[in-house]
Amino acid sequence: MLPHSMGLLELFFGKKFPFKFVYSDEYWMVNIGKHVFPVRKYRLVYEKLIALGAKRENFLEPRPALDEDLFRVHTPRYIRRLKAGELSPAEIHMLELPYSTDLVKFAWLQAGGTILAARQALADGLCVHIGGGFHHAFADHGEGFCVVNDVAAAVEALKAEGKIERVMVVDCDLHQGNGTAGILGRKDYVFTFSIHQMDCYPADKPSSTLDVGLWAGDGDDKYLAAIREHFPRLFRRFRPDIVIYLAGSDPLEGDQLGGLTVTKDGLFARDMIVLESARGLGIPVAVVFAGGYARDIQDSVDVHINTIRAAQKVARKWPRQ
Ligand SMILES: [Zn+2]
Repeated sequence: MLPHSMGLLELFFGKKFPFKFVYSDEYWMVNIGKHVFPVRKYRLVYEKLIALGAKRENFLEPRPALDEDLFRVHTPRYIRRLKAGELSPAEIHMLELPYSTDLVKFAWLQAGGTILAARQALADGLCVHIGGGFHHAFADHGEGFCVVNDVAAAVEALKAEGKIERVMVVDCDLHQGNGTAGILGRKDYVFTFSIHQMDCYPADKPSSTLDVGLWAGDGDDKYLAAIREHFPRLFRRFRPDIVIYLAGSDPLEGDQLGGLTVTKDGLFARDMIVLESARGLGIPVAVVFAGGYARDIQDSVDVHINTIRAAQKVARKWPRQ
């Protein structure tokens, strides 16, 4: 029996999902050919949520980010060349995705989704974007399947709107948040935390505010000890007005692009620690999915669904404060 399985208790505790999801069917319709990046996971998570009782009103449909949202975090030259289809073969090679105008639309829509999720989290305490987390995009180029940096765009959008003063990015994708560190790493109103596998892409890891490096073969014990060492301590110390949480599923054992051997239960425990620590202090959290490349896509989907179950538990325990 899963510790986080749905139970009778839910019938007595009001809304099944006391927060919104941000999702668009266009997320999985982008054609990137046969690729290790599983865009189908977005649809599969959506379908699973419907099967679990989510209703239409639980979902918010994102709009594409405005160009001005992306100009805050990317160079005008990069944005202009992306839209005009002027990237060089070397730049497209670095992106590791086939370039198309649909890919650009996908990236803008995903960025709009994370911005929307961050705004909604401020209103509701929690919001889950069934997408987002493109943390390898730098100001002047994209790489590692990431065209534009939705996380940085959301941080700067909220800041520009005067809605927040301090933000913490908690990046638990297996890969280091190099693009986010490059864009936000030196800003004193942002704390970027990244826990990742050291012997893995990206080779060059610009400094986050705090980087925690693990190694291939490190499993639940080391992973969770590292998470517990820093949370809720960092939230108490930095006191962010919002947390953007990259709940990557690629630390899962057997991932095609990673070597950490964290179990599904281990990742659920990680989600609970991060979400409980933040919500226990009244800090809103916007969850984004980031990466996950399990051989069987269902395993990546299970991890993301477990993150949502963790969010459910935490939202019930600490409703909006
Ligand atoms: Zn990753």
